[in-house]
Parts: sequence; structure tokens; C-alpha cells
Amino acid sequence: MFILRNKAQITNAINNAKALHPKVKMVEFSEYAVTGSTGNTSTVLCYRANGECVVDCNCPSRVPCKHNAAAIALHVHVAARRGH
Ligand SMILES: [Zn+2]
Repeated sequence: MFILRNKAQITNAINNAKALHPKVKMVEFSEYAVTGSTGNTSTVLCYRANGECVVDCNCPSRVPCKHNAAAIALHVHVAARRGH
């Protein structure tokens, strides 16, 4: 889990996601199912806590992973379309 604090993190995440081409499916707004290159599917939650944007992936990776990146890319896109 990590907290999005600035736009650069989002930009980096989106660039990473583009390079890795994981498959992202929106389960519902703020919940995404991401399938990585190994075929494993992780669930990523994007939500607000204490005014901060938190991204939480259920995979074992301790660093901001590609699932997070892919989910953020879609989340930002959907949020923008909804006017969030
Ligand atoms: Zn992950």
C-alpha cells in the first residue's frame, strides 16, 4: 500500500503501466482487478483516507507494484470522466 502525494507519482505509474501492459478491469469504481505477466490477478483498491489518495494492492510486493500503476492509470482516467 502506498499514498499518492504528487502528480509525478501518477505520471510515473502511468508510464510504467504503459510499458508493462498489464490487463486492468474495473470491478467497481475504486476497485480494480489487474492481471500481470505471470497470469496472476491482484486486486487493487484506490480510496481516500484522511484526505490522501491511498492505493492498496493485495500482492506480496512491498514496493509500489505494476498492479498499482495500472490501477492508478485507469482510476485517474475514470475519475476525470466522472468529474472527481
Ligand atoms: Zn501488486
